[in-house]
Order: sequence, then structure tokens, then C-alpha cells
Amino acid sequence: MSGILRYALSSFLLEGAWIAIQITVLAMIAGLFLGLLLALMRLSRYKPVSSAAWAYIWLMRGTPLLLQLVFIYDALPRLGIRFGSITTAVIGFALNEAAFAAEFIRGGILAVNRNQSVAAASLGMGPVLTLRRIILPQAMRAILPQIANATISMLKGTSLASIIFVNELTFRAQQIIATNFAFFTVFIAAALLYVTMTTVVALLQLLLERRLDPELRTIGGRRSMLQMFLGIDRPSTAPAVAMAAGVTPAPDPRDSEPVPAAPWLNLVPDPEPEKPARDGQPFVVFTDVHKTYTLRGGHRREILRGVDLQVKRGEVVTIMGPSGSGKSTLLRLVNHLELLDRGEIMVAGELVGYRRDNGVLKPVRDLAAARAKARIGMVFQHFNLFDHLTVLENVMEAPVRVYGVDAAVARQRGMALLAKVGLAGHADHLPMRLSGGQQQRVAIARSLAIDPRLMLFDEPTSALDPELVGEVLAVIRKLAEGGMTMLVVTHEVRFAREVADRIVFMDEGVIVEEGPPEAVLDQPRERRTQQFLRVVQHH
Ligand code: ADP
Ligand code: MG
Repeated sequence: MSGILRYALSSFLLEGAWIAIQITVLAMIAGLFLGLLLALMRLSRYKPVSSAAWAYIWLMRGTPLLLQLVFIYDALPRLGIRFGSITTAVIGFALNEAAFAAEFIRGGILAVNRNQSVAAASLGMGPVLTLRRIILPQAMRAILPQIANATISMLKGTSLASIIFVNELTFRAQQIIATNFAFFTVFIAAALLYVTMTTVVALLQLLLERRLDPELRTIGGRRSMLQMFLGIDRPSTAPAVAMAAGVTPAPDPRDSEPVPAAPWLNLVPDPEPEKPARDGQPFVVFTDVHKTYTLRGGHRREILRGVDLQVKRGEVVTIMGPSGSGKSTLLRLVNHLELLDRGEIMVAGELVGYRRDNGVLKPVRDLAAARAKARIGMVFQHFNLFDHLTVLENVMEAPVRVYGVDAAVARQRGMALLAKVGLAGHADHLPMRLSGGQQQRVAIARSLAIDPRLMLFDEPTSALDPELVGEVLAVIRKLAEGGMTMLVVTHEVRFAREVADRIVFMDEGVIVEEGPPEAVLDQPRERRTQQFLRVVQHH
């Protein structure tokens, strides 16, 4: 026993272990970065890019690591490229690992709901920001166990590098045995070192998994390096928590600063609330809007077939129509979440994400910036809240990351918005802890946080239990009273009657009928409208 320990603690074997650690750490870091790059390439829409990544992965996974090491060590010098043993090992292991990492990272990214990216895009977040702040932190939970697996494999696999004369642990053990034939003692000593190293990896995995668990994160604990890298900050909501607990919080010096208030929210009580003028000027103008989707197999389906519509400033327009009539598509075109095929949509006199080139619309390069500039809030049927962020973090995300608002100001404003939708007490909770109605109200607060000039609602209450519909509609009604310009897709007839200035009825990609609620709801002219209303009113 003491013989084993003597060998295990001998500087000869420890140095061998140290070499294994160095190779593993460096190769793992490089391999993961390269793997992320390859994963993104594989996910690219551009065929040459995804094919190149696929080919690399195919080649590296299809050939033995040993062969790759020997190739770098023996063959490359013929081309005048020469590396030392350890450098060769790091490069070889990294290039090999990248191929495997690419696949598990891609798997992690694909496991994140696509709605998360759509919501991020609607808030003006660009692809890199979305990847770093929204996708990767969620994908990380699926990726981390795989990273741990790969690290352990590599630690043990570094013994392969002895073939290119890296004097690592296994090789050194063999060297000792060659002189003293103490097979058992020396091999067990080496095994002990390997087990110690892999145990450290396993423990690190455990620690990081706990740190990445949003449930644990919201209960307490400091930020980890990983969270800092991923930018998961934990905003302090001590006053809100204290309030929820019925404790009077100490006055915050920031409270004296005025909260930037949007007039339609009436955040500051005003005897004569200043509503944005309903000046009768068109604010959103759809002209001859066409959209066709190309389905698999090249089959084309025309979803919108020439939509003309004008929405005035401060007006609330409700869109109704059967499923598949193109309502969601129409909304998504407004903030350029989809490309127009023909026609144009102007918001406040400007195109969103297009420039006119000889009378033809061309998408601009930086779509995210165009969306951010347009300030169009969007609320989805399935809420699409960022699952890994708390309620307040959801609301603060776009102001801080897209608009560069100071975190303290964004927090204060976010709390005010949450109070406005009746959820201040839930600021530190995760979305999944809330009811559907509460989640949808958070989603509304989140889009209001970008100070929108126009709000788009896509069936905001369709996914809710009947008893939760009212609380969401109440918030939307309050916005309408505040003078917000809104396009609301909904089948809530009573809501439309009370809140809408105008109802637009769509079917098969065209506007069939439009007019004030009394006209469209009570005396529909078109047969299709009559049929549809009969169906929804009986629910
Ligand atoms: P609505 O919201 O009125 O129910 P949508 O605008 O969502 O209608 O969709 C209209 C039609 O377009 C549906 O039949 C839907 O299947 C189809 N569609 C929507 N998005 C896509 C897409 N990205 N690719 C192909 N077809 C789509
Ligand atoms: Mg829809």
C-alpha cells in the first residue's frame, strides 16, 4: 500500500499526470470553441457552409485519433509544418474533439425551443446576442454532461500521445515497470492518479450543473464564472422581495429619480393624461402585401394574396378569421420576422428592415438594428418567455442589452411595468412557476419595456384557461385606453366589441370585410364572416 502511494506521489508519475492535464485542458478549450463554430456552421442556411462543417466532422469522426496524431507529427513536417510533441498532442486532440463537440453542441442548440429566438428577434436582439444570452445558457444544461464525458475520455485518452513521444502518465508507468517489474504497484499507482483526475472532472460537472440550474440560481448563491461568461446576471430585487413579504423596504436612493414614463401607461398619475394624439394620420400602412411559403418539395402556397390595410395612430384594430387565413403571417411581416414577397408595409412612414433600391425593396443587412429602431412590441400566443431568466430579467433583457439602458434604470422601470401588470411580487420567480395568465402579462410587460410605438398581439389569450383570459384582456384594454396603437389577432368577440375601433375579418389571405365592431359583429355582410362568427360566438 505504501509502495503504491510512494509511486503515486513520486514526481515522475505526477509530472506525467500534469502533462495529461495540460493537454486535456488546452485541447478541450480549443476543441469546444471550434466545436461551437462547426455546430453553427452545420446549422447555417447556406449549403456550402453547412456542407463544409459536415465534411470535417465526417472525416475526423471517421478516422482514428492515433492516425491523426501521427499524421500531424510525421506527415506535416514534410510540408514544412513542424510542432513539438505536446503541441502536436494539443492540436490533434482539439481537432478531433471539435468534431464530436460540434454534434453535441448542435444537439443542445436544437433542443432549445425555436420560439425563444423568435421572441428575441421581436425584441431587436441580433443573432450573436440571442445565441449568447438566450440559446446557449439554455442549451448548456444539455451540453454540460457531454462536456464532462468528453473531458474524462480525453484525460484517459492522452496516453495515446505516447505514440508521438509525449512522456505522459501511462508511458511513464511503463518505463518504471521496465526497470523494476513492479507491475501491480506501479499500475495501481497510475490508476489512482487517473481516478483522482477524473473525479475532479465529475465534481466540477456536479458543481456547474447546480450553478446552471435556474431553479437553484433564483433561490440563492453567487454567480459562477460560467454564468458570468454567459452573462446570466442576477439583478437585485431586494425591495420587491421585501414588499412581497410585507416588509417596508428601506428607501432606495434611486427612488428619487423620475421613472421614465410612457404616457400610455400612466405610470405617473396625471390629472390630464396626455394621450398620443389620435390625429387620424395613418401609422401602419399595408399596401398590396403578398406572402408565399415554399413547402418541402418545392410546392408553393400563397398565404397572403394582396392585403391593403391602414391603421391610424392610437387606433386598435382587431383581426379575426379562421385558422390558416394568414393572420399570424401578417403580424410577423410588420416587424420583419418574415420576408415580404410583394407589396410593402410602412410603420410611422418608414420601412422596417428594407431599403428601396430602384423602387424594389431590399432587406437591409442589420435586421436586428432595424427592428430595434422600429420599436414594435409583439406578444405571442404561447408567451415565449425566456425560461432561464427570472420575470424581471425577462423584462430587463432588451432595454439593457439592445438599447443600452443602465441596468439600475432598467430594473426600476421593469419593476414599475411589472407593478402595472400586477406582478411586482413575482419579479424574482421563473416564468414556469407562474400561471399562463401571469406569464402572458409578463410577456406584455417585456414588450412594453422597449417603449413600443406599436403593439402586435397574436392570439394572446388562445392558450389560456378560460378563467385566466380576463386578466390578460384587462391589461390590453388598459393599453388601449392609454392610446397605444395596436393590432390584435383575437377571437374574443366581447373584447373586440368593447376595445376595438375597427374589426378586420380575414379569410384565405385576403381581407374579406372590415368596419366598426357593431357593423362587422352585428351585421356582417359576407357569408364567410357570418359563418365564422356563428362558430366563435358559441364558445
Ligand atoms: P393564422 O395565424 O391565420 O392561423 P398563419 O399566418 O399562421 O395563419 O398561417 C397561414 C398558413 O401558412 C398556415 O396554413 C401555415 O401552415 C402556413 N405557414 C405558416 N408559417 C409557415 C412557414 N414558415 N412555412 C410554411 N408554411 C407556413
Ligand atoms: Mg396564428
